[in-house]
Amino acid sequence: MQQLVFATNNRHKLEEVAAKLNGKIKLLSLDDIGCHADIAETGISFAANASIKSRYIYDQYQLNCFGDDSGLEIEALNNEPGIYSARYAGEHGNHQANIAKVLDKLKGSDNRRARFCTVISLIWDGEEKLFEGIVEGTIRKELSGADGFGYDPIFEPDGYNITFAQMSMNEKNSISHRGRAMDQLIAFLNTR
Ligand code: IMP
Repeated sequence: MQQLVFATNNRHKLEEVAAKLNGKIKLLSLDDIGCHADIAETGISFAANASIKSRYIYDQYQLNCFGDDSGLEIEALNNEPGIYSARYAGEHGNHQANIAKVLDKLKGSDNRRARFCTVISLIWDGEEKLFEGIVEGTIRKELSGADGFGYDPIFEPDGYNITFAQMSMNEKNSISHRGRAMDQLIAFLNTR
């Protein structure tokens, strides 16, 4: 079986991706390869940050690998929080505070348009490929749902009247930014 390193230790993401791989490829996390480095995301775009991660792993371990970077872009906030999505309110990964900041900044705004974006940087046999996935939607005024992570409780994808946090993982995967970027990655891997 082929092996592929996903440059993350985020269990939600590993599960989402593993569910899409259908057991064809063995997915390894950073922990699995003994990498405990804190790879600094110093890029100014999702693509740059995704590349920083995949290149780091390839340079250190010479393994096929991919890194991803995602975020939420809100139209009325000039596409904030964007690459700062994880630490929008200051503390990395404080989802409650991040959501509170978004809702506060959007108070009184009629334009609730937003999109999630993922860019994946794959390094396969030493060559880099980029894949992008986008899902458009709106920001709710209140939180709904208990599943998922991050901004899921306030994001309602177009064509649905529930938030990402009210969907099963499979349902979210089938339309999410990460799911769409992953579909392209998997389509590419299946041609190898
Ligand atoms: P990452 O690059 O995938 O780690 O995403 C960075 C940040 O964007 C996360 O910490 C979340 O705040 C937000 N984000 C990315 N993907 C999602 C998602 O599927 N649902 C909710 N929030 C997300």
